[in-house]
Amino acid sequence: MKYKIGLLKGDGIGPEIVDSAVRVLEEIGKKYGHVFEFTPYAIGGYAIDNYGEPLPKETVEGCLASDSVLLGAVGGPKWDNLSGNCRPEKALLGIREKMGLFTNLRPAKLYPALKSDSPLREDIVEKGFDIMIVRELTGGIYFGERGTREGKYGYEAYDTEAYSLMEIERIAKVAFETAKVRRGKLTSIDKANVLETSRLWRKTVHEMAKDYPEVECSDMLVDNAAMQLVRNPSQFDVIVTSNMFGDILSDEASQITGSIGMLPSASLGETKRGLYEPIHGSAPDIAGKNIANPIATILSAAMMLLYSFSLKEESDCIVNAVDKVLYAGWRTADIAHGENPLSTDEMTDKIIEEIQKI
Ligand code: NAD
Repeated sequence: MKYKIGLLKGDGIGPEIVDSAVRVLEEIGKKYGHVFEFTPYAIGGYAIDNYGEPLPKETVEGCLASDSVLLGAVGGPKWDNLSGNCRPEKALLGIREKMGLFTNLRPAKLYPALKSDSPLREDIVEKGFDIMIVRELTGGIYFGERGTREGKYGYEAYDTEAYSLMEIERIAKVAFETAKVRRGKLTSIDKANVLETSRLWRKTVHEMAKDYPEVECSDMLVDNAAMQLVRNPSQFDVIVTSNMFGDILSDEASQITGSIGMLPSASLGETKRGLYEPIHGSAPDIAGKNIANPIATILSAAMMLLYSFSLKEESDCIVNAVDKVLYAGWRTADIAHGENPLSTDEMTDKIIEEIQKI
């Protein structure tokens, strides 16, 4: 099969880590007989410097014409003083919107080989955890009516949250389907004791649960969820939640793994075409030094194979290769604690060697 992949390398370490993922995908292509055709498009600070805007029209058109898109990261100190609409980060919201991506999948998995990097207590990490957070991405308070006005106590600012039944149903469907192919457990997180949107969210999820008898579905209030994530993360399999709650909880979940250079993400819409990216930023402090951890981006490519191209065996091959490399003790600087770290290229070589052996 032939797949067209749009590459948004972006800024900072973006080009280095995307190049690593491309090398891994090429190896997978060789091994399993697929052709991956890569086309780079400008985004972020690089696009501002070369095209005068963070998300050029050609980039949007190119991404929409691709079968899927892999993104590095955008932003950096060079562009920090630009105003809102001209900032590199503006391109992220823009491309998600143009591609109609309403779901954000963020796995937070504790790698047994990296247990000691987690900030959690030893008896908690001992049990391990592997959580998939399904976050609604294009609705809720981040997209609601907002403004400033004269209120009861004088000048005030306001933001509003609205969720339609359709928006809740489509994200809940993704979550139930995801739970079905994982460990069959779904926790829906809301604030139904206070928010009307949460009450509709909860009612809708309960209705849909009847169609998924194989999934054990429960609710949790967001304040409790924030606590449970650090108290006993192993209780979670799939979490589904709104845009803002998902934003906060997915960052919390990533931090308890102890290694943000390891965590991938996928943003999906109605079609198979998705946007896959590491959860970390452009790490300007280490850009161009060939020391960044490429694993989050390589695992993002593995998610692309699974969710966009339905290539499960190929995706598993990458995940297993990463597991094996970590078990063998190979580390980049961010997870090496000073002991002979591998460069970005060397870590990529190790993963490719494992892929060849599997
Ligand atoms: P960051 O994630 O870029 O970096 C935080 C720390 O983690 C740094 O010390 C960095 O060196 C380290 N780090 C991150 N990824 C790493 C990797 N793969 N390997 C090794 N170490 C890694 O967050 P930040 O410093 O807050 O932001 C830097 C820039 O990135 C800012 O301009 C920010 O706006 C942007 N940003 C972009 C995205 C995105 O493109 N999706 C996301 C977050 C931040």
